[in-house]
Amino acid sequence: MSCASFLDNRNSAPVQTTKKSKIALVGLKLEELESILTEFSEPSFRGQQIFEWLYRSRVDLFDQMGNLPSDFRNALSEKFIIHPLKEVHVTGSSSEPTQKFLFELQSGEKVESVLMKEGKRTTLCISSQVGCAVNCDFCATASMGFQKNLSVGEIVDQFLHVRRAAKTNITNVVFMGMGEPFLNYNRVIAAADLMNAEKGIKLGAKRITISTVGITSKIKRYTDEKHRYKLAISLNGSSQESRLQTMPIAKKYPLEGLLTVIDNYSLTSRHPVTLEYVLMAGITDNIDDALKLIDMLTGHRCKLNVIPYNDIGGKYKRPADDVIEAFIIALKKAPFPVTVRWSKGTDIAAGCGQLAVMESSVIN
Ligand code: SF4
Repeated sequence: MSCASFLDNRNSAPVQTTKKSKIALVGLKLEELESILTEFSEPSFRGQQIFEWLYRSRVDLFDQMGNLPSDFRNALSEKFIIHPLKEVHVTGSSSEPTQKFLFELQSGEKVESVLMKEGKRTTLCISSQVGCAVNCDFCATASMGFQKNLSVGEIVDQFLHVRRAAKTNITNVVFMGMGEPFLNYNRVIAAADLMNAEKGIKLGAKRITISTVGITSKIKRYTDEKHRYKLAISLNGSSQESRLQTMPIAKKYPLEGLLTVIDNYSLTSRHPVTLEYVLMAGITDNIDDALKLIDMLTGHRCKLNVIPYNDIGGKYKRPADDVIEAFIIALKKAPFPVTVRWSKGTDIAAGCGQLAVMESSVIN
């Protein structure tokens, strides 16, 4: 599920690069850095120094890496670059402390991230793929089709750029931008590990949430591998039939099997799963759906997060306020926690399900 995955790809065709790109250092873990540095005949602690410069110290130039010899810095800059992403544009909400960042990959495609502030919490919603193969009917990213998986560096660099540009500490990261994180599983986990690394960004594991539409084989693998990041799953239906209305992937991964792997995860990890439920007028907002959700989820260790749909001008609409209210009231009988997420930054199309690359605003 994407929190902000509605990409307008009208002008996002990859830019053809003529010369070979330099290798970006952001995205490499310590052992990888140490391994590529062997050719420079420098002591092994240089890897650790560079790791800290990259992830902890917010530097953007090799010349800022003050504890490296200048010859070595020059040699590094001839062969490598620091960032795999280029920041193209930032849009700020006029009504809320929310910003949307547009980045360009070295290969020319573009992705977006959204920074949202609420109280002491500053959350960055990041992308894991360019486009998406999953084809949820309410999501514009689906119309792009799948273009490519982001590299570890392209995922982590969203964090580094936003942290520097916004001059703020990011307290939480959610993998809810463009793409299905579990279809880029290895790189998403490696990126989360880098953000969690003690001597690097050091973001607590419980402050990182990975959200999936429900790829059961990957949820099982995630459980078996005992990762400590939070898990969120897009439910978006009160039955197999209603899930299928908007999420064709539910055919491949039916609800019954999904609930089984969710139970296995919460039992093994001792953490509840957050189930995301988007309220769409006439599709998922009937009181009967609320009652079915209570029936279906009672006995499962979960939280339900209800998200009123953010209109993107397509066929789906947000329910009227009184319908949303009635739905929430009906859920008050639920024996599991229920929260409502009102999206941030809807005026800049940065709310849940609204991300769109507005190329015209970049050019003008
Ligand atoms: S998984 Fe579904 S909601 Fe998420 S980006 Fe892909 S198509 Fe959109």
